[in-house]
Amino acid sequence: MSTLAEVLARETKDGELYDILPDGRLRCYSCGHNCPLPEGAVGVCKVRFNEGGRLRVPWGYVGGVQCDPIEKKPFFHAYPGALAYSFGMLGCDLHCAYCQNWVTSQALRDPNAVAPPLSASPERLVRDAVDRHARVLVSTYNEPLITSEWAVAIFREAKAAGLHTGFVSNGNGTPRVLEYLRPWVDLYKVDLKSFDDRHYRQLGGRMEPILDTIKRLHAMDFWLEIVTLLIPGFNDSPEELTRLTEFLASVSPDIPWHVTAFHSDYKMTEPGNTTPEMLLAAADVGRRSGLRHIYAGNLPGRVGNLENTLCARCGDTLVARTGYLIRDYRITPNGCCPSCGGSVPGRWDPRFAEQIASRPFLPGSRKRLSILS
Ligand code: SF4
Repeated sequence: MSTLAEVLARETKDGELYDILPDGRLRCYSCGHNCPLPEGAVGVCKVRFNEGGRLRVPWGYVGGVQCDPIEKKPFFHAYPGALAYSFGMLGCDLHCAYCQNWVTSQALRDPNAVAPPLSASPERLVRDAVDRHARVLVSTYNEPLITSEWAVAIFREAKAAGLHTGFVSNGNGTPRVLEYLRPWVDLYKVDLKSFDDRHYRQLGGRMEPILDTIKRLHAMDFWLEIVTLLIPGFNDSPEELTRLTEFLASVSPDIPWHVTAFHSDYKMTEPGNTTPEMLLAAADVGRRSGLRHIYAGNLPGRVGNLENTLCARCGDTLVARTGYLIRDYRITPNGCCPSCGGSVPGRWDPRFAEQIASRPFLPGSRKRLSILS
């Protein structure tokens, strides 16, 4: 029986995001590692490799699919209430000890992570998304940058069907991959895990490419939201949070910042869980740094109005939420506050369409995707 690595090595095609170096090695630009790959070498992500002088990249499968409310991604300033048809792949360019999707992200590193790939095509995925009345197609759960060519193939089809598209990513990008994605990706969420390069090195990355990616995403007019999972004792000091939020505000005070609660997961079982008070204190830091739209996540109903979208000008409640459920929606058809007329940053529908689901669910048609072995 084939190993997972052997199965995935077969499910590949020639990539587009690489150069041939003068010494014959390949340089991959799909993520900030920029791996130099001699013949036969596999990248840090474990899914892209040099075979005969060509970069082979993942193709033709997914690690899983799920229908999520777009609020789960989380995007709070893009098509509230929309259903986001979400697909994940396998592998990651980081190895965070607290990963909440470790079964798929660490499938090629950790023998305990068992996630069989499912055969898929762009046409089938998009047809399924449309059948479920999804309005957004999202690459998520593992790191989408490492499978950018495959995501673009799916998103081309999605755009032809009138869907919006998104990446839920650790933000470890490169200028070249962002240029490649720009025509096909509308929404981009970056998980900004810390504002300390030593922490990023513990997770297997560097902070600089992530900050650079955030600046570029904003300048290139992707719709950008940022998440920070607040881990007690890891990234929650007021000093670190001040530097992090001042950086975001310097890019744009209109970037929504989601500060979300940690619970023990995977190999990080030491810190206690994040409390509502910790989220509120972090939100205060963000506010002092000048951020205008701050949300507290993962503790629904326990964080005051930090689940709601407020008008930054007059403070009126524009979207009221509990968890992923939209309780009220008052943004005008042209994306403004009905009370003061202030414009609300984001991507808005002319009118609020009924929310299809306020909880994730598995599409029944998932059974149509066959397990690869
Ligand atoms: S995606 Fe990143 S980790 Fe994988 S080969 Fe390319 S540069 Fe290396």
